[in-house]
Amino acid sequence: MAAYPVFDNHVHLQRSGRFLDAVKEFKTKGGTGFMLIALPPGADILSREYFQAMYEEGVRLREQALSVGGIDILLAVGPYPVTLLEMAERIGLEEAEERMVAAAELAGRFVSEGKADAIGEIGRPHFDVPQEVMAASNRIMLKCMEQSRDAGCPVILHTEDPTPASLTNLASMADRAGIERNRVIKHHCSDLITPVENSGLFPSVKATRDIVYSSVKKGTRFMMETDYIDDSKRPGAFMGIGTVPRRTRELLENSLLSEEEIWKINYENPVSLYGRDKFRKTA
Ligand SMILES: [Zn+2]
Repeated sequence: MAAYPVFDNHVHLQRSGRFLDAVKEFKTKGGTGFMLIALPPGADILSREYFQAMYEEGVRLREQALSVGGIDILLAVGPYPVTLLEMAERIGLEEAEERMVAAAELAGRFVSEGKADAIGEIGRPHFDVPQEVMAASNRIMLKCMEQSRDAGCPVILHTEDPTPASLTNLASMADRAGIERNRVIKHHCSDLITPVENSGLFPSVKATRDIVYSSVKKGTRFMMETDYIDDSKRPGAFMGIGTVPRRTRELLENSLLSEEEIWKINYENPVSLYGRDKFRKTA
């Protein structure tokens, strides 16, 4: 175990990407844990086993990545928001919505059976879509939040770029679903980390220097993420897997945070969301 924990709350891995090499790099650079988010599979989007295959692949990738050793790897599964649009083009919006809702229920079962730790990334498209598509997306998101409530796990939201108003809207959906706001994690959050700014949702902030430096001035109630995509066809298009370890070290070296505050962001926060049993004893 490193001297201090380093947790990345949003990582994708692909068998066709760097996969285990990426995990090893993360570890070598000081990473101690990450949240793996299952990606839509290459399979035919209309196949009945589409989501089952997606989630099972996530389980297998986690399993194999754990073989690197010394890293806590959590898993989130759920219907990716943009999949709704791709399905609707082929089978119409109504049936596409039904399949996404079934996928939300399947994600809840994966968590209840102990195969996954959170439902995500789910939500609504991050770009403009017709009003009826947005309405369907909101119903699917509500369903996912209800599944999280029942499974007792957090939900990880992929939505439009956040503003205080959009976060208030998401928080009221959480209330309607009966899930605690602080168990609703806003992926790709900006530096809106205070409950006043984000209506009490839990921020997972992009690990750029600007966003992180601005966030630490306001407090420690956030996690960092890369959204590492592990796509060999687009190297450098997204943040590298070593970013959160590097940013963490930088915060310490520049005395922007104490070691205690690092523990809060990279350990106590994920523990409070996902459960202490999901992490090795590091304190
Ligand atoms: Zn992602």
